[in-house]
Amino acid sequence: MPELPEVEVVRRGLAAGITGRQIATAQVLHPRPVRRHLPGAADFEQQLIGRTFAEPRRRGKYLWLPFTDGDAVLAHLGMSGQFRLDHSAAPLAANTRVLISFADGEPGLRFVDQRMFGGLSLSAGGAELPDEVAHIGRDPFDPEFDLAAAVARLRAKRTGIKRALLDQQLISGIGNIYADEALWAARMHYAQPTQALTRPRATEVVLAAAAVMRGALGQGGTSFDALYVNVNGSSGYFDRSLAAYGREGEPCPRCGTPIRREPFMNRSSYRCPRCQRAPRRLG
Ligand SMILES: [Zn+2]
Repeated sequence: MPELPEVEVVRRGLAAGITGRQIATAQVLHPRPVRRHLPGAADFEQQLIGRTFAEPRRRGKYLWLPFTDGDAVLAHLGMSGQFRLDHSAAPLAANTRVLISFADGEPGLRFVDQRMFGGLSLSAGGAELPDEVAHIGRDPFDPEFDLAAAVARLRAKRTGIKRALLDQQLISGIGNIYADEALWAARMHYAQPTQALTRPRATEVVLAAAAVMRGALGQGGTSFDALYVNVNGSSGYFDRSLAAYGREGEPCPRCGTPIRREPFMNRSSYRCPRCQRAPRRLG
């Protein structure tokens, strides 16, 4: 799944490519990515014609493309969703699902999705904040993100710190990769009980999550090509700079102890067994 930095790279690419442009035609090549639009694919196509995109927005990992009329298209990237800005004469990439052309000409917008867990849906009145996103907490890059309030919510939970970091209603945007990286940076075990965290320690781990995401975003920004807006989930440009995630058996960059992988919520957690010791009550 793409996490906040990857989604923000996509948002910026779309902002440069579609903001202020009026839709001339929309063509759904496969009905599944628009399945959330209950009146059907033909209606989805008709609904888009003539509308003008405002600047794409994001909260956490959630992306939406507002129209100037107050409605929006929600973009679910799922596991493999991508947007491409391509000339209409360019050959279609495999798994192209939706084509949008603009009144001002080239390039057009294409939604490509191999596995089709994602998709596009219309959100009536959703330009400012779609209903589907309203329950999601603000992410650390949001100008209105309140660090003290987020830390208070975190410490009020009776759970492990990694579960709390992954809870998108508490703080959004942090997925498995950046949670592990933030915990490594803060020298904290994933099962550390949140209610036992001091305010400074809880603040430290939230700031660490923001810092690792900002670092990944900086790297994505430099290699970003506005004509090819790509979402690769966990693979790609930022892998080289990860300290713990995906590095089982490799030396901890801080102390040299081999990184350990452990099962966690049907996935994995990576930690340094020396820098990130288990809380005492867990042995
Ligand atoms: Zn270590």
